[in-house]
Amino acid sequence: MSSHFFDGSSAKRYDITPEAWQEGVSFSTERGDLAWRYEDLIRLWDYRPSDHLAFTHRKHQDSRLIIEEPALVAAIGRYAPDLLDRKKEGFRSARIAGILAVGVTVVVAAIYFLVPPVTDTLARIVPWSFEVEEQSKLATLEKIFGKRCTAGRPNEILKDLTDQLLSASGFPHPIRVDVLDNKMNNAFALPGGRIIVMRGMIREAHSPNELSAVLAHEIGHVVNRDLTERSIRNNALGAITALVFGGNTGTLSDTLFQTGLSLSFSRSDEAAADRYSVDLLNQLDLDPSGGAAFFERLSKSGGLGGVLPGYLSTHPESDGRAGYFREHGTGTKQALSPADWLILKQICIKNG
Ligand SMILES: [Zn+2]
Repeated sequence: MSSHFFDGSSAKRYDITPEAWQEGVSFSTERGDLAWRYEDLIRLWDYRPSDHLAFTHRKHQDSRLIIEEPALVAAIGRYAPDLLDRKKEGFRSARIAGILAVGVTVVVAAIYFLVPPVTDTLARIVPWSFEVEEQSKLATLEKIFGKRCTAGRPNEILKDLTDQLLSASGFPHPIRVDVLDNKMNNAFALPGGRIIVMRGMIREAHSPNELSAVLAHEIGHVVNRDLTERSIRNNALGAITALVFGGNTGTLSDTLFQTGLSLSFSRSDEAAADRYSVDLLNQLDLDPSGGAAFFERLSKSGGLGGVLPGYLSTHPESDGRAGYFREHGTGTKQALSPADWLILKQICIKNG
């Protein structure tokens, strides 16, 4: 009984003697030493026998790490119990994303003031094609957060709603909204004009205008090029954190950037996206009280204390934002009919 490793680029089987640590598993092959963090491990649940642990790595998905020694299996179970219990797996992904987001946010907060505001100016002169090329693959996000919800009619309604907002924005590039089957109450924009909304947000929204306010806010981040700015800032920060901590922090921040959960936007970016949202709603004569209600609930639900990363973790400073929507919104209509809103809420129920 021995553990072994396949590097994914050759058929060679490396016999290894891994060690389990608080943070991950380390092992040596003739080609060098490797340390895989638990949060980067993807358990291959269908591997038999099932009392052995088979993993691949988020960033090296052709490689395989097989652990057979019962004592080592037990040790990993103590450090990362969710790797032994499939039921906890979905929760783990979300929780880890949250922990990473908080961790990186702390690092960023610490060195935020070292990076001059020149990044904002830089972002605006970077061509849009840069963002499109940087666009992350939806498949990666689906692995982390859950499948894209593909129900036909609800997606049509969502697209109509998005197009309505976009037509008022006058933004010349396409923006696409996808819903992932995850219970987080969260939404975020990615580079390249992609907006991800979690099922939990649509489920918990009390009105179509809550969702519209959030979508319009995310469109604001896209139009204001906040993603590009964050990317430039991330690269600078990645270099700094790599210097401070060593290792592969660069790839870590890449992954985080791709998930859209890596960094909170600055308070002024948030305020600008809120202004953008209210402007868009006003142009379409949409009642802003949905947006106000959303931020009111958010500030009552209280900060980053929750285990799951919510909208607050990616969009801080919700105090006072409800008031902004109420004071400056002039619209009167709902974005969707009650019937369409009910259908949209089913977006993740009937997949296919
Ligand atoms: Zn935001």
